[in-house]
Amino acid sequence: MSSRLSLPVRVGTLTIGGGNSIAVQTMWKEPLTAIDSTVINKISYLSDIGCELLRFAVPDLDSAQVLGELAGRVKMVLVADIHFDYRIALRCMDFPIAKIRINPGNIGAAWKAEEVIKKAKAGEIPLRIGVNAGSLPRALSKDKNIAEAMVKAAEIELEILEKYGFNRVIFSLKSSDIDITVAANILFSEKYNYPLHLGVTEAGPLVQGVVKNTLAASSLLKKRVGDTIRISLSDSMENEIIAGKAILQSLGLRKFGVEVISCPTCGRTVFDVKAFLDDVKYIIHKFDKKATIAVMGCPVNGPGEARQADLGITGSGNSVVIFKKGKILRRVSLEQALKAFKEEVDKI
Ligand code: SF4
Repeated sequence: MSSRLSLPVRVGTLTIGGGNSIAVQTMWKEPLTAIDSTVINKISYLSDIGCELLRFAVPDLDSAQVLGELAGRVKMVLVADIHFDYRIALRCMDFPIAKIRINPGNIGAAWKAEEVIKKAKAGEIPLRIGVNAGSLPRALSKDKNIAEAMVKAAEIELEILEKYGFNRVIFSLKSSDIDITVAANILFSEKYNYPLHLGVTEAGPLVQGVVKNTLAASSLLKKRVGDTIRISLSDSMENEIIAGKAILQSLGLRKFGVEVISCPTCGRTVFDVKAFLDDVKYIIHKFDKKATIAVMGCPVNGPGEARQADLGITGSGNSVVIFKKGKILRRVSLEQALKAFKEEVDKI
């Protein structure tokens, strides 16, 4: 196992890299045109379930204004994602936006990149350079070794940054192909110690996307390559966060509140495990005490698993049995299951 230790880069209240916890992030999925209670509540919810960094696309100066104002109103660490227009990056840096994702190599004349880098340096604002296999510079797009071409693209950006002595930078090298993503990140990590933002891009819908991201991230994270993770899915922000947390928890790299043990159900089930888990999802993912919770469909394996958990629930005949640390706590009707379970979770 590699002992790679990346450079720590401060991003708002977080530090990415340098052996710090691997931060879980997602990206806002709609245009941000105004700040209202729906936006504030959604961000608060994402924070509750474990989102640590939230990125927004900023396509124009009006959006920069809205995001800037939002950054002054929420505690969440916000990141601006900018392409091509250096003026948007300059405007975002007038606000408490924690990081700017922009590639100096694609914003035109060298003086524009210089203005962005100088302002970022003066404000101690980190930049994220995002190299995407699908949008490599023309000179590199014919390269047969795509992973190498991606690293070369990162080096073009790095050369511009280093010219101005700027090292507050995080890189990402993403492809929709697992092997290319892994190879590009390994290659980069062998040459540079900048922190890496991991993820497979355009990974697909929920199941396929989680599988692809898990395979790529686990290959890299087992080698200690990767400092923050975003699971890109054609699905909700919530599921991107839950998937990111699950990958890190399964690899033993972070310990979040609750470990869920649940059965897949079969013909013996007397209890709708999936519906129950959907109902308690919010409680489980925002729960910050360490606990194992078992949700089981029937008495065959149910009581055994449920008994070993801090809190367990299993279907049994026309009712459910709730266990706490191995002891039967209560038996209630199926209709009462959710209410009773919530009461017991609060007591853990
Ligand atoms: S616990 Fe019961 S319902 Fe769930 S998979 Fe096992 S036998 Fe089926």
